[in-house]
Amino acid sequence: MVKETTFYDVLGVKPGCTQDDLKKAYRKLALKYHPDKNPNEGEKFKQISQAYEVLSNPEKKRIYDQGGEQALKEGGGGGNVFSSPLDIFDMFFGGGFGGRSGRRRERRGQDVIHQLSVSLEELYKGTVRKLALQKNVICDKCEGIGGKKGSVEQCTTCHGSGMQVQIQQLGPGMLQHLQSICVDCKGQGDRINPRDRCKQCGGRKTIRDRKILEVHVDPGMVHNQKIVFTGEGDQEPDYEPGDIVILLEEKEHEVFKRSRHDLIMRMQLELVEALCGFQKVIRTLDGRDLVITSYPGTVVKHGDLKCILNEGMPIYKDPFTHGRLIIQFVVNFPKSVDPSVIPTLEQCLPPREEVIIPEGAEDCSLMDLDPEQEVRRREQRQAYEEDEGGSSGVQCATN
Ligand SMILES: [Zn+2]
Ligand SMILES: [Zn+2]
Repeated sequence: MVKETTFYDVLGVKPGCTQDDLKKAYRKLALKYHPDKNPNEGEKFKQISQAYEVLSNPEKKRIYDQGGEQALKEGGGGGNVFSSPLDIFDMFFGGGFGGRSGRRRERRGQDVIHQLSVSLEELYKGTVRKLALQKNVICDKCEGIGGKKGSVEQCTTCHGSGMQVQIQQLGPGMLQHLQSICVDCKGQGDRINPRDRCKQCGGRKTIRDRKILEVHVDPGMVHNQKIVFTGEGDQEPDYEPGDIVILLEEKEHEVFKRSRHDLIMRMQLELVEALCGFQKVIRTLDGRDLVITSYPGTVVKHGDLKCILNEGMPIYKDPFTHGRLIIQFVVNFPKSVDPSVIPTLEQCLPPREEVIIPEGAEDCSLMDLDPEQEVRRREQRQAYEEDEGGSSGVQCATN
């Protein structure tokens, strides 16, 4: 007699049924309650999987029949007694639900991320970069079996489960089940005779391989944009390989700064250019020369912003449309002016406002002031005051 029948009831079979009956029952229920079809029946799907996992494994079934679910859990040593329901499903049906691979996320290798440093010119024009990397691939000689076909046999120690269960007598009528990874097959569930092991991979099933990836950097791509090579990650038997993800890293440019689709640059002007007009040449990121002209009569002030339309960064997937090229003017003033030319200079400039100096006004001298030094001094004072305030704060807290 079996101790409890819960797992049999979940699958709708009777204790003593054949493995065939068990498989039929599982197939019908697992398809019905798979999360793809029945997203709200996750718990039911889990129960079906657990019941099938136990009853289809001779060792687990024996423990369950003798001591019920409690005995299984005790034998598990508090670790994972059950596999993931989706893994059980995949093992049973030999693949994802209805052949779709998206559901197999739990049996998927890790993604590998590589950073790729690119210049602003490369992001403007687009480029192809070759990236050499090492990865694990399924051994082509043994096709991932690890040895000759047919040389792989179920591990006799664990009967293919990959786990070993030991029963210890703790005292009269007290048994403890200890579960551990099978030492003979290292949890693989199968073994290859050393003589039959694949010469190329030594039975490891995968080999290291050098792979060259061609990374297409398209015009308009941005910093931190990902380029994904689906399924190019490390290969491992029974696992879907993860992706190789290339993460773009935009190098700083000495002239242009990028702000979304716009490019921003600073342009130095001499005062004479700012007042009397100028022509300047800008070398674009794709090597063209642009001429800009400020006609005599127009004054450009320090800090003025101007822009050239359609000379910014190209837009990703729409490379003939560009953002703007924004120019911020920095006007260099002369350090001093020869006093002898000042009357002439004054005649060219708008007249100054007349200033009336009240009687008794005090004469002061103007000192130079360095704003950076000013900021430093303020920070020092703040740090000092925070120290003071910090100690009094502690006193308040204890009151
Ligand atoms: Zn084993
Ligand atoms: Zn091999």
